[in-house]
Amino acid sequence: MTWSTAQRAMLRELGVPAFWPEVSADEATAQATGDASASARPAVPTAPAAPAAPGVQAAAALSDDEALAAAMARPDAAVRAERNADRNTERSAGLRPVAASLPSAAPTGSAQAELGQRPSGIDTMDWPALRTAVAGCEACGLCKSRTQAVFGVGHPQAHWMIVGEAPGEQEDKQGEPFVGKAGQLLDRMLAAVGLTRDEAPAAEQVFIANVLKCRPPANRNPLPQEVAQCEPYLLRQVQLVQPKLILAMGRFAVQSLLKSSEPIGKLRGRVHDYHGVPLVVTYHPAYLLRSPTDKALAWDDLCRAREVLQAQSPR
Ligand code: URA
Repeated sequence: MTWSTAQRAMLRELGVPAFWPEVSADEATAQATGDASASARPAVPTAPAAPAAPGVQAAAALSDDEALAAAMARPDAAVRAERNADRNTERSAGLRPVAASLPSAAPTGSAQAELGQRPSGIDTMDWPALRTAVAGCEACGLCKSRTQAVFGVGHPQAHWMIVGEAPGEQEDKQGEPFVGKAGQLLDRMLAAVGLTRDEAPAAEQVFIANVLKCRPPANRNPLPQEVAQCEPYLLRQVQLVQPKLILAMGRFAVQSLLKSSEPIGKLRGRVHDYHGVPLVVTYHPAYLLRSPTDKALAWDDLCRAREVLQAQSPR
C-alpha cells in the first residue's frame, strides 16, 4: 500500500511510531546495526521531532504494509494506554462525564429537562422536511439557549456517517458540527483514511451529525429527556443516508447510540449494530487532543472501520 501525504501526516499525528520520526534507510540501518557512520550521513528531511515509543524505531525501515502491521500490533505504550483509557476518562479531557445509569447517557441527579412538543412524522420526513423540523424544534429547553440547531453536514448518501455528542460553542455559532479544534483533528483523521467533509463522491464524503442538535448551555451534560427528544432526528438521518458504517465518537455518543453504560475501552475493538448499520466505536477527538497516546488506538479504530467497509464492497 502506498501512503498519501495526508495519511503520513495523520500517522505522525497519531504517533504511530513506524513512521514518526521518519528516518532514512541509512539511519534505520544504523539504528538497527549500531553503525554510527551510517547515521552521520545526511538524512532526508524529517517530520517535526516527536517522541517515538521505545524499541520501535527500526520499524521505519519496513515497507508500508509491514509498518502498518507493526503499528497495528501496537507498542507497549499504546497497550498500556488502552488499559488506562477507562480510568483516564474523557472527564480528564474536560468533556462531560456520562453517568453509569444509561441507556440514556446522561448525568445522574434529579435535573429535569424542560420539554416541549416534538413534531410528528419525523420517521417519514424527507431531507428538506427534516431540516426544517430540526431548525424549528422546540421539543426541549435547549431551543431557548441555542443560537441555532446544528443539523449536520455531508453527503446525503455517504458511506461513512460520523456521530458526535452535541454542538459546542463554535458549532452553535457556525451551525456546523465539529468546527473547533476537535473538528480540525477529526478532519485530519478522516483525511488519513481518504475521507473528507467537503464535496466528494459518496464513498469519500462523510456525513457528520451529533446525538444532540442543540448546544447544552455552558456545555453541560445532556439530560436523558433531551437525548430522548432528539433521538428520532438522528435515527431519521441514518435512515435517509443509509450509511454503510457509523463511526461513533466519544463516550456520550457511543453510550447513547448503543444504549450501554460500558466504557469505550470495553466497547471498542468490535463491530456493533445501530438499526442495521455496522457501528464502530472510537474516542472523541477532543479527548485525543488531551490524551495523544490514545491516538494510536483511534487509528486502530479507523482501520477497523475501513475494513468493515471494504468487506461490504471488496475491490
Ligand atoms: N463535539 C461534538 O461531539 N460535536 C460537535 O459538533 C463538536 C464537538
